[in-house]
Order: sequence, then C-alpha cells, then structure tokens
Amino acid sequence: MRRKLIAGNWKMNTDRVTAVALAKSVAARAGEVSGVDLLVCPPNVYLYPVVQAVNGTAVRVGAQNMYHEPNGAFTGETSAAMLRDVGAKFVILGHSERRHILGESDDDVNRKTLAALAAELVPIVCVGELLEEREAGRTAEVIRRQFTGSLADVSEEQVQRLVIAYEPVWAIGTGKVATPDQAEEVHADLRSLLVERYNEKIAGRVRILYGGSVKASNAGDLLAKPNVDGALVGGASLKTDEFLGIALAGAAV
Ligand code: PEP
Repeated sequence: MRRKLIAGNWKMNTDRVTAVALAKSVAARAGEVSGVDLLVCPPNVYLYPVVQAVNGTAVRVGAQNMYHEPNGAFTGETSAAMLRDVGAKFVILGHSERRHILGESDDDVNRKTLAALAAELVPIVCVGELLEEREAGRTAEVIRRQFTGSLADVSEEQVQRLVIAYEPVWAIGTGKVATPDQAEEVHADLRSLLVERYNEKIAGRVRILYGGSVKASNAGDLLAKPNVDGALVGGASLKTDEFLGIALAGAAV
C-alpha cells in the first residue's frame, strides 16, 4: 500500500514572511489529514525558516532543485548536503520549467538524482511530454526516454527511495488538467517501465505523483486512480485551503 504524497511546489514565489506564514498555516491544519504525507517546497533561501516553522509537525520540507557536485567552484549552486544541512528531506528534480526554460537534460537530471540519493535526500524526478508530443502520439516514447535517461544507474535499493512525478507540460500552470484516464494511462506505463527495469515488487513500492493544474475540486478523481499516488501541486499550493483540500481529497480515496 503506497501512502499518498501531496507536495507543494511554491516555485519562485513568496518572501520570507509569507513563506513562513504559509508553512505555519499548512502545519497548523496538517492534523486534519490522516494517512497522507504532506510536503512543501519553498525557494531555497527560505528553506531554513520554513523547516523551523514546521518543526515538530508532520509537514516535510523539500527543495526545488540542486546541483550534482558535492562542493567546489560552482558559483550560485547548492549541493545535496547543503539542502540536508538546512533540514530539507526531498528535492524536486527535472521539473519541466528547469528542463524547458533552463535547458536541463536527462543526463543533468540523472546526475542530480544519483547525488540526491547518495546524500539521502528523496528525489522527486519529473517527467512529462509537451503538447505537440502528445498530439503527435509520442507521449509514451517521451516518457520512456525521460525515465530511462533520468534514472540511469539507479539501483534496486535506490529506486525505492525516490518518487516519480508525471507532469504533462501542457497542464502545468495552464488550468488544463489531464483527465484522470490520461493521467492513469501514463502512470500505468511508468509502473510498467519500473517492472521492466526492476521487478514487480519494487515497482509496486514507488510512488508516482501527478502534477499539472491540480486543485481541490479536481484532485479526488485523479487521486482515486490506482497508479496515482499523490500530487505535485504548483499554483494551488500557495493557498492553504486549496492545498489542504487536495490533501483531504487524497485522504478520502
Ligand atoms: C508544478 O509546478 O509542478 C505544477 C504542477 O504547477 P501547477 O499546479 O500550477 O500546474
């Protein structure tokens, strides 16, 4: 039985005061949600105050990106150990905005995934097709390529410590959510890729989140699908009521 994970990607939003306030308001209501893991991912500079704000609660904190090297002359970058040092437990990797705006490749995502796992952070590895790829019937091929490239050299033991997020690029921040059947189809494909690469037992343990315009009103139908193990939430994670509403929908299925 996979516990649902509801993760909020705050992207480059909030300031120190509003980040702490949002984290505290989510933490204050975390008790309303049972059987679901809650994660918030603020901008890196606010990780430490947010970790302090949720200290002693069930809310976990993650980063939105990291660099694969442990230290050295990499101006402006942040290592996995630094994220751990300030209390982050998770890190989102290969988000579509990083792939498509900042030019990250599957190789980059793979290096980061291996470094995060080595530092005992939980990577949330994102994959997802562009609208033109879906329209050209290439979704399965794109997902296979990103899965294979991003998870190269990830061992049987390691894959059980990571999370995969399916985020169709056309659904991110657009208000256009994938239908529950569209999401389930790709999630089932990802589960099959895990079986093919590892085995049934291991594949059954890996959580696969859906991301792309999830809100409280559409979360229930998505989260009810057998291979949808949670949500990676952008815009709606900036509002406590919406975020908790998604988590409550996850708890209800
Ligand atoms: C995201 O940033 O991962 C995301 C899914 O954004 P939104 O929920 O706003 O579509």
